[in-house]
Amino acid sequence: MSLLSPAVSSAIPVARPYIGAEEEQAVIDVLRSGWVTQGPRVAEFEAKFARYIGCDHAVAVSSCTTALHLGLLALGVGPGDEVICPSLSFIATANAIVYVGATPVFCDIDLATYNLDPARLEEAISPRTKAILVVHQIGLPAAMHEILAIAARHGLAVIEDAACAIGSEYEGSLIGAPLGALACFSFHPRKVLTTGEGGMITTRDAKVAERLRRLRQHAMSLSDVARHSATQITTETYDEIGFNFRMTDMQAAIGITQLERLPGFLAKRRSLAERYTSSLLHLPWLITPTVPSGRRHNYQSYMVRLVAGFEGKRDTIMQNLLQKNISTRRAIMAIHRELPYRSERWKSCLPQTELATDSGLILPLFHQLTDSEQDYIIESLQLAYS
Ligand SMILES: *Cc1c(COP(=O)(O)O)cnc(C)c1O
Repeated sequence: MSLLSPAVSSAIPVARPYIGAEEEQAVIDVLRSGWVTQGPRVAEFEAKFARYIGCDHAVAVSSCTTALHLGLLALGVGPGDEVICPSLSFIATANAIVYVGATPVFCDIDLATYNLDPARLEEAISPRTKAILVVHQIGLPAAMHEILAIAARHGLAVIEDAACAIGSEYEGSLIGAPLGALACFSFHPRKVLTTGEGGMITTRDAKVAERLRRLRQHAMSLSDVARHSATQITTETYDEIGFNFRMTDMQAAIGITQLERLPGFLAKRRSLAERYTSSLLHLPWLITPTVPSGRRHNYQSYMVRLVAGFEGKRDTIMQNLLQKNISTRRAIMAIHRELPYRSERWKSCLPQTELATDSGLILPLFHQLTDSEQDYIIESLQLAYS
């Protein structure tokens, strides 16, 4: 018996993962293999992920949050350091900076792309700044060339929060063939590719990859696979404080299957996004997404923005859509408005962030969304405010 009432189960959600019989079989195979935690499937997922992205090293972890945490540690960010990041992001972006004892410094965004505004970066830099944590928000790549040039001028590391950006491209390369020191991905069900929970770090630097592999596994000098396949007795050492941030082989098995489906996921999302944009472009009270030349969006989310003066209508529009069984979400959050991050310091320096968070509206977009469902959403949206 379904737990959902018919009304709820027939509603169009904002997002829905696509998981099929292949994923089910892949998990069953792992369960029957007798090796369920990080093992051969994780190693295979890492190798395939690295090959797909076009990067030498990929290190699987338990989430993007733990990926960011380890990434910052591997870059030597610690107590007393400042890390610049956008406030217009999921709270985990800033939390990871706090986990390593550093302080997030919020920089405003470019309202056209919802990403860090390179023109506002330098004013956020202080003698304590150690790194810039760039977010490719909802899958649109940030202005990496401009940001990297500023980082190089000031001797700062650049780490990419690519939680939403699998399959997105910047000047012909996939995000994660890192332009910065390393890039961190999420496989949460709300993202384009899911393993239930999970994350991946890509880097060009073999030493960094090696350190990340140790840190995710209690800083143990030998991996479980190495210990189990050894023909001599082995003794591992623990030379620093590590973590248990491992991915399981069950998750990796799902990830391997999802990676095969990814080109199809991306094509479908892009085609749905184009249908939205061409139909909504002419609505005078709404702004459709902008994709600067040289960048390719994966449309992890499709977010529109209400024009100035219409922000106050957002809840009415959302309520009207919900009455028609269409779920929507308010825009990306602004981290500086949440209790742990509230400060006088952010009072007037993040105007574009505040505008974006107050006026954005995320529309349903997922692999199984049909053209007729999308037409219904578009018509309902056109009528939701008139
Ligand atoms: C989802 C998300 C995260 C967190 O990812 P998890 O895998 O759930 O830890 C971090 N940053 C951004 C920008 C995200 O969208």
